[in-house]
Amino acid sequence: MTDQQLCKKCVFPILPEYASTSKGNCHVCDSPEMYAHIIKPPDNEKLTQLIEETRKRGSGSEYDCVVGWSGGRDSTCMIYELVTVHKLRCVAVFGKTPFTPQEIIDSVRSIAKKLNVKLIEVDTHKNHQKIAAFCLKEYLRTKIPILINLACAPCKYVNPSIYVHARRLGVKTVISGGNRFEYLPSGPASIDVSSENRYSFASMLKDNFARLFKGVGVLASSPVLFRYLPTFFNAAVLYVNQYSIYMRLRYSGISRFDYYHYADWDENRINQVLKELGWKLPAGCTSNWRADCVFDAIKNTAFKEQVGFTYNQALYSNLIRAGKISREESLLRLEKEGVSKERLAEALRLCGFPEDSLNSK
Ligand SMILES: [Zn+2]
Repeated sequence: MTDQQLCKKCVFPILPEYASTSKGNCHVCDSPEMYAHIIKPPDNEKLTQLIEETRKRGSGSEYDCVVGWSGGRDSTCMIYELVTVHKLRCVAVFGKTPFTPQEIIDSVRSIAKKLNVKLIEVDTHKNHQKIAAFCLKEYLRTKIPILINLACAPCKYVNPSIYVHARRLGVKTVISGGNRFEYLPSGPASIDVSSENRYSFASMLKDNFARLFKGVGVLASSPVLFRYLPTFFNAAVLYVNQYSIYMRLRYSGISRFDYYHYADWDENRINQVLKELGWKLPAGCTSNWRADCVFDAIKNTAFKEQVGFTYNQALYSNLIRAGKISREESLLRLEKEGVSKERLAEALRLCGFPEDSLNSK
């Protein structure tokens, strides 16, 4: 990170195309409309209302809600809050991938038992590993950063699975653990919809169309992607998140929200809950963020190389803008939380590549 000029407000780099006009800030810090929806303060009143509505819709059924669970930090803590604080009767749908570490699978199973939550395990797309390896190979050939995002497309297949189970069980609410600070205001796969309500029907319509156009551009430069076109289309447009137009219309009878869009996302609280639940950090992890996916090491390495920053830099920059962490602490943590060599080697091995395929400079 030494060769990189960082924003004086956050830890995001000043990208070369912005350097000539910058007064020391990154382009995101200079455009508050890009991140206003990310740093919105918590809304406890709205959260209470959503929880009460969930309870009402669940009365007369065996369960109040279905929750999506990756086994990672945020979704694990969310389940704890829903069960112990809000007293909701939850069914958890755990999306397992070929890149989910065994420690995470073990934690999920033991925590579900501890919290007395009904656990349903689902797998991502059957060709997940093959598709990820294929995208990685294309990335190494073309160095187009969005190919690394496409490698994660099969994961999106968990989104409809969650709703299939909700419908089967007659559950009328789905709750997810999305955390606004993770949103990247400027990445290869991000769609800039800077609106007050990011997930309104209108915003998502715009988002879905923007993704289609972006997709056409990528296909033009890497036509071999046609091989998995239906998978990419489903993942990037239909199933991209639970608010997509398709997901809304297909599962219109089911209400949905993201817990941390309203609840305060407090890292200390999260760490304390994880400790209480006995959640284990997988071997080789340098940070508990995205500990649930080994492929993240490939993503971060490729990003750093191609677009000049890591996801961690983007996350900490959002947290700084929201006043959740200081710039000094972020810098210290970035130093400590670099891409883990062990995890990178494991991810590459799972994709059938030698350990040094992504050697960074
Ligand atoms: Zn900045």
